[in-house]
Amino acid sequence: MSLMTSWVTSANSDQTPFPLNNLPYGVFSRGDEWPHCGVAIGDMILDVTALEQAGMLYLPEDEVFETAAWNEFMDLGADTWAAFRKALTDMLAMGSDKQKAVEGYLVAQADVQMQMPFDVVEYTDFYAGKHHATNVGTMFRGAENALPPNWLHIPIGYNGRASSVVVSGTDIHRPWGQLKGPNDDLPRFGPSARFDIELEMGAIVGTASDGPITVAQADANIFGYVLLNDWSARDIQAWEYQPLGPFQGKATATTISPWIVTKAALEPFRCDTPAREFELLPHLRDVGPMLYDIDLSVEITPEGGTTSTIARTNYSEMYYSAAQQLAHHTTSGCPMRTGDLLGSGTISGPDKSQYGSLLEMSWGGKEPLTLETGETRSFIEDGDTLALQGAAKGDGYIIGFGGCVGTLLPALETPFKT
Ligand code: CA
Repeated sequence: MSLMTSWVTSANSDQTPFPLNNLPYGVFSRGDEWPHCGVAIGDMILDVTALEQAGMLYLPEDEVFETAAWNEFMDLGADTWAAFRKALTDMLAMGSDKQKAVEGYLVAQADVQMQMPFDVVEYTDFYAGKHHATNVGTMFRGAENALPPNWLHIPIGYNGRASSVVVSGTDIHRPWGQLKGPNDDLPRFGPSARFDIELEMGAIVGTASDGPITVAQADANIFGYVLLNDWSARDIQAWEYQPLGPFQGKATATTISPWIVTKAALEPFRCDTPAREFELLPHLRDVGPMLYDIDLSVEITPEGGTTSTIARTNYSEMYYSAAQQLAHHTTSGCPMRTGDLLGSGTISGPDKSQYGSLLEMSWGGKEPLTLETGETRSFIEDGDTLALQGAAKGDGYIIGFGGCVGTLLPALETPFKT
């Protein structure tokens, strides 16, 4: 697949994250106006809420884009997803006879504030990166017991909080929590001193299911993908996690990128999961390439400082695809709903330069990393801005996500006596 050209000239650059091949879905606002749904094209946004109000969209239902979230559209099903994408492509393609009618509905991205692209109905986070799980397991339990015994057979995960998912650009406050270091006799209450990121992809369920579904059906039910940063307080997590897993250590915030990149835009980038040590049971077996070749990176910018890229990896490093995770999620009969968000788990590659968390990069704080400015980091300092970037690279074009950014602010005053 090569670049598809548009009459929106900024969309024809080989550097724009939003060429005509992408057409990701977001929600934007201007000042105090009610937010609208929009589609990114080059450095502009096509205002589809306004297009719908003008009677220029042909969807099976009315007022699909009145709620400033893409859930209602997702709920219309895969045939509508495909028809709508084709209609957008026809409107925006170079030489389109719709240009005159549509160009008044373009808004400059520079003039808007991005909002959450969809209502997160529920949020589940997996732990499906083998290099990450091996690294963390080695630090927490030793190399002999690094991977839990179930790990090579099922994609393990935990149920997170939809209420804590925020859009890129939202500031994060350092959390308080109960902490107990290895040399402490008793726990104490204080601000996390080991606050971290996790570089992940988020898969969005577009089609609901009620009961077990196959891996192929799960793949069909996924609407699209976002970048996802699962902010993690390692010191809170280390004390609380046994035996029920992460809780407050992961509940401060999870940041997602503002644009839903559709599965359709990512089709040319499908790739296989890595070789397996054990054949999976039939209900989880791969039935086609369901990972994606997406380059990912982590950037850190100290307050007022210079940006350093501290990791580069690729989504294809995952051991399980989102389709396998979704299929596994339904085996018990668990219903899945339109707007469910599934975090992939931290995506680390085999080399130190490819690790998706500071916990791994600094090896638990023992080997601080050095930034461009010469400063060092074991974990995130107040004022640091962390940004995840992602791009699938085609022939003369990029499918981008728009960044997944958050700044860590100091801990708020606590209502508790410490
Ligand atoms: Ca995670």
